[in-house]
This record gives sequence, C-alpha cells and structure tokens, in this order.
Amino acid sequence: MAFANRFGWSLSREATFDQCRRRYFFHYYLSWGGWQAGAPAGAREAFKLKRLVSLPLWRGQLVHYVASMVLRSMKAKGKIPDRDRVVAYTLERFKTQFEFSREKRYLSTPKKSFESLNIDWLALIDHEYGRPVTDAALERTRGECVQAIDGLYESPILGVIAETDRAKWDIEDLASGAFSQQFEYGGATVFVKTDFMFRAGDGTLRIVDWKTNRGAVRETDAAEDEPRDAAVQLGIYGYYAARILGEPVASIRLLEVNLLDGGRSIEHAAGEESVARAGETIASGIAKLSGALFGRDTARNEALPYERFPMIDNGLCRFCNFFRICKDESCSLRLP
Ligand code: SF4
Repeated sequence: MAFANRFGWSLSREATFDQCRRRYFFHYYLSWGGWQAGAPAGAREAFKLKRLVSLPLWRGQLVHYVASMVLRSMKAKGKIPDRDRVVAYTLERFKTQFEFSREKRYLSTPKKSFESLNIDWLALIDHEYGRPVTDAALERTRGECVQAIDGLYESPILGVIAETDRAKWDIEDLASGAFSQQFEYGGATVFVKTDFMFRAGDGTLRIVDWKTNRGAVRETDAAEDEPRDAAVQLGIYGYYAARILGEPVASIRLLEVNLLDGGRSIEHAAGEESVARAGETIASGIAKLSGALFGRDTARNEALPYERFPMIDNGLCRFCNFFRICKDESCSLRLP
C-alpha cells in the first residue's frame, strides 16, 4: 500500500513555516519519498538534509532519550537509577553517536529498522557540510548533557513520581520513533508529543515537558526546533488531555521542567480558557499551513509550486540544513 504524505500540524511545523517558507517546503514536501533509492535526486538529498541536527538539537535529543530511559527504569524497578551510572551511559551514547556522525555512517546505516530506531544514529550538520566541530564546542555540549542530567536529578520530580502509581505513567517512547499521540482536527493530523504524564496522589493528571534549551537564543541555535514558548506548547498538551483523553480540565496540571537550570519547574495555567486558546492556536495554524496547498485541499496535500515558498535572507541560512540545495551555487540540485 502506498505510504501517503498526510497533511499535519504541530507547533514545530508551524514554527518552521514562520521561520522560512522555503525551508518548510524542503522539509515537508520536497523530501517526501526521499528514503527510496529510486526517488528523484533532489528528494533524496532533501531527505538526507532534513535529518541533520545542530549541536544544541543533538543535546536536546540525547537528554530527552536518557530522561525517558530513567523513567522507564523507575517504572520497571520501582527505584531511581544511580545518577553516576546514568551519566556514564549518557557519555557513552554521546561518544558513540558523535563517532557515528563523524564517520558519516548515517549515509549507509538506516535510522530505523522494523519498529525501532537505532538510538546511536546521528547526522550532524557540521559533519555533512565538512565544517570542523571545535573541541570547545564539543566539550561544551558534552558538559551541558551532564548538566541536564544533573538537573533531572536535582528537580523534585523524581521524588514526587516515586510516590505515585507507576502503572499510570505515560512515558514518551523515543526508541520506536513513532508518534503515539495524534488526533484528527479540521483535515489535519495533529501531532502531540508529551514527554511524560503521570497521575499524582491528589488525582490530578500532571503533564511534564523537559526543557533543554537555554534562556538566551544564540545565533547558532537556528536549527534547534524545540519550541521556546513553553506556555503555548503545554497549552496544546492540555487541549489533548481535555478534548482527546477526556480529562476534566480542573484536574490537569502542566509542568515545564528546565533541565539546564537545575531542574527548575514552572507550572502553567490549565483551565477552560487556556484549552480554548489552544484549540484556536491549532485551528489558525491549520488554516495557515493549508494555504500552502493547491486548493487548500488537505486530503490531497499537494504543495504549491516551490516559487510560492519564498526564501529568506539572513544569518540563519548559514546554519540551515538545506543551505546546499537552497543557496549553494555549486550544487547541481539547487532549485533555480
Ligand atoms: S538556506 Fe535560508 S532561505 Fe534557504 S531554506 Fe534555509 S533558511 Fe530558508
């Protein structure tokens, strides 16, 4: 059966659209089918480029994965795993993944086989573009990974959840590479990706979002796709819990945990007003993105011609995955 490119919405997808229309076109349309050997060269190149990550994004992915493993271990064994062993595991993944990328094994090794991801699969933008990763940048990223794990352990959350019913924990499954949380809304598949949900002792449903970005946005974070407006993101999770899972709004708690800031937690308001606002965000986002389709036809999901996705011209381009096929005049696959 043919695997169709379904029209979808998520906050990060809309953020890409807002940042650069051309980047959106490359990521969600040109790259489609590019995993097939017989696909057009442009699609194959776009597919490869869309999977490249920056150092900050890699840091975020690795920390999210380790956090999910810590929770899985707690769920299975009923105790918090030893912090030093978790740090050692993180650094082992860090080293293995970096070597995988540096040797460009991402060109020949599948990221996913059957239903599971190769967790050590990594393709760094710098390696693909032949740019050196300085020792200082690598050391800083490594240090931030450890700092984030420390933030997880310093946060009160591990202690809080240890007292709750583990059978009711819902932990993001990063090893499967699939979106388990999605729903249909106005002709679009809406993707939600909560990091962790649990039922607290007082009966409330707590939705936790690990944050691994830093307060100040650096220029080199252009390729980082972790939405920075945590309130909006958690509002979408609140909508999902209320409208899709059927949770009473009054018993939803939304929690942002900043792992690079000592595990500092911020609770965001969940109420009828914020759920309604999240519904409006989803509806307006779908309306915006569907405007880039022929006839606004979300079922057909055919993008307008690429000329209708204008490029931008600023410092972000230097750090963009798609620079090669967008702005590198020596690249034969570059769009005219
Ligand atoms: S190189 Fe610049 S214009 Fe081209 S897709 Fe990337 S951000 Fe957009």
